[in-house]
This record gives sequence, C-alpha cells and structure tokens, in this order.
Amino acid sequence: MILYRLRCSKGHEFDSWFKDSKTYERQEKKSLVGCAVCGDAKVTRALMAPRLGTKGNKKGAAVTPVETPPPAPTAEQIQAQQQMAAIATKMPKELREALVKVRTEIEKNCEHVGDKFAEEARKIHYGESDKRGIYGETSDKEAEELAEEGIEFGRLPWVPRGN
Ligand SMILES: [Zn+2]
Repeated sequence: MILYRLRCSKGHEFDSWFKDSKTYERQEKKSLVGCAVCGDAKVTRALMAPRLGTKGNKKGAAVTPVETPPPAPTAEQIQAQQQMAAIATKMPKELREALVKVRTEIEKNCEHVGDKFAEEARKIHYGESDKRGIYGETSDKEAEELAEEGIEFGRLPWVPRGN
C-alpha cells in the first residue's frame, strides 16, 4: 500500500491509499480517482512535502510516496470491512441452503434407518445387510465406535427445510 497526495482541478488536496503505483496510474487513466472533497475526476498527483532527513542524511529528502500506514483507517478500508461483515452475515444462510440440498439428495438416494443407523451401518460393513446408502440418527458415542471399526460414514447437521 502506498499513500499519494492528490489534487483535483479545483485545487482540493487529499491523501489516498493505493495498492501500488501501477494501480494508481490505471485508476487515474480511467478517471476512477475522484476528489474526496468535490468528486472531481480530474485528479493529479501532488508532490508530497519533502520529509526532513536526519542530520547528515542528505539523500533522505523528497520521499514520495510515503510508505508508513496512516493511524486511522481510510474510507476505503472501512468500506472493505463493511463488505466483509456483510458477507459474514450472509454466510449462515448460504451454508444452510447448501445443507438443505445435501439433505434432499440423501433422502432421495438413501434409506432412512432412524436411530438404528449404527447397527445398520455395521451390518452393511460386515456384509450382513445389502450394501446401500443409509441415513439416520446416531449418538456421538456410536459414531466414535463406527469410526474405530473403520466404517465409512459422514455426519452433518440435519438442517430443517424452509426457515
Ligand atoms: Zn475537488
């Protein structure tokens, strides 16, 4: 991230962060950089005030762009944070929809064995029952035992349909 001091055609000066100098140049060319004060798209880079170098360091002057981060987040950063928050609140719903889909698929293709899932899964595993897809309820303890016996199964939250 680099900080540029920009100036619009009306003379407003403001600071703006860009990913790198190429990003700035690309946005500037497409007039995507607007004045923070009046929205004017005719924005040019203003020269940063030269930083005072330490004594004896004469090469240290005129540093542009400045590479230290600003203390307060810019409007752009706040916007990015808000977008992330919006995605986060959306996620559970999408996850729920995905799980409903999985549930529908399982119900269509597998046999419901209710709370006899562990018993039935074991029978299938040891060839006592026909090999088929089953689903049902199982306790944590039963699931643990099945896993120990090397029986293949998957667990997922059984979400209610609709809301
Ligand atoms: Zn302006």
